[in-house]
Amino acid sequence: MNHNIGSPKFKVGVLGGGQLGRMLIQEAINFNIDIHILDVEGSPCSLVASHFKNGNIKDFEDVLNFGKDLDVLTIEIENVNIEALYELEKRGVKVFPQPKVIELIQDKGKQKEFYVVNNFPTAPYLLVNDLAETELNIDYIPFVQKLRTGGYDGKGVQTITSISDLEKGFDAPCVLEKFVDLEKELSVIVARNENGETMSFPVVEQEFNNEANLVEFLFSPADISSTIEETAQEIAKSIITKLDMVGLLAVEFFLSKTGELFVNEIAPRPHNSGHQTIEGNITSQFEQHLRSICGLPLGSTSIIKPSVMINLLGAKGYEGAAVYKGIHDILRIDGVYPHLYGKEMTKPFRKMGHITIVHNNLDKAKEIAHLVKETIQVISE
Ligand code: ADP
Repeated sequence: MNHNIGSPKFKVGVLGGGQLGRMLIQEAINFNIDIHILDVEGSPCSLVASHFKNGNIKDFEDVLNFGKDLDVLTIEIENVNIEALYELEKRGVKVFPQPKVIELIQDKGKQKEFYVVNNFPTAPYLLVNDLAETELNIDYIPFVQKLRTGGYDGKGVQTITSISDLEKGFDAPCVLEKFVDLEKELSVIVARNENGETMSFPVVEQEFNNEANLVEFLFSPADISSTIEETAQEIAKSIITKLDMVGLLAVEFFLSKTGELFVNEIAPRPHNSGHQTIEGNITSQFEQHLRSICGLPLGSTSIIKPSVMINLLGAKGYEGAAVYKGIHDILRIDGVYPHLYGKEMTKPFRKMGHITIVHNNLDKAKEIAHLVKETIQVISE
């Protein structure tokens, strides 16, 4: 293989056909990169991908067959068949991020060990095998119990602040992480190409919806000191370099009330905390991901305009075919960019899309974002 970029023969495959894959396709068109997607029929990419293969990203044969004729294979979700990726790597397909990185990240316990061994700051933790072992650690309360594997978007995370909370605890291998009194949650996206060049996006700030454990608002840039900004970017660059990873890495941080910065977790792919870069920055995270995995120079990450991103979640109490109530009203406002992910069915808190608001003044963008949030609702027919 090894076709040239821009040639119609240059094929990039993506495991996973969700919204991240969909936004990657949008950017790939500009570079004439032919994107191939593997996922089940009906996923957000299935209607827009020029090459969509119906299959299971966790199945060895499906992944192997899908990947064997590609120039580059990447992911938009970590939960994929690792053995097939190792085999493809052996056969000469460029698998970015590399399987060893994905394997590490699939396990929150291994992630934590990686931070500690390499002196990256992270909250104290214990590893346990099941609920009985968790219950032996009541002295460790308050802690956050996290499934070592399989959790995503806050599913697989429980805050345990009292002994009675243990009733809802997971009976599975978990990380028990000391509860951090949070000032802010920050995120940095960093890219690295095969030449070892790294480039970081400016730090953003994420505000969570406590009920859904999902990001409600994202602010770019983050309102933090230049010391925290530089430290977070340096840590993110050191992590991607230490991993020897090629691709895009999102590094989520906790900033504690006492001013300490802790690495929470990392994701080796485009990330929810980088959606605002599509309109807000010179290079979007999706373009940067393609640049990094296709051997291209990395693009400038500078902010063009401050921005706020809102996740468009399915409204509580509605389940069925999605209707975007209020979308006409928000489209009358300047600088408001909706992205609908093409998911036919809504349910409470399902990520149905996102909206980015750009403005010269971040405070004004925040005001508009609140108005947008009150105006639009994803309900069902
Ligand atoms: P996921 O992988 O599902 O996103 P996270 O580990 O990032 O799970 O946890 C989800 C959210 O739970 C975090 O963004 C944060 O708001 C809260 N959280 C997680 N760990 C801690 C902690 N140690 N202290 C305080 N809050 C936490």
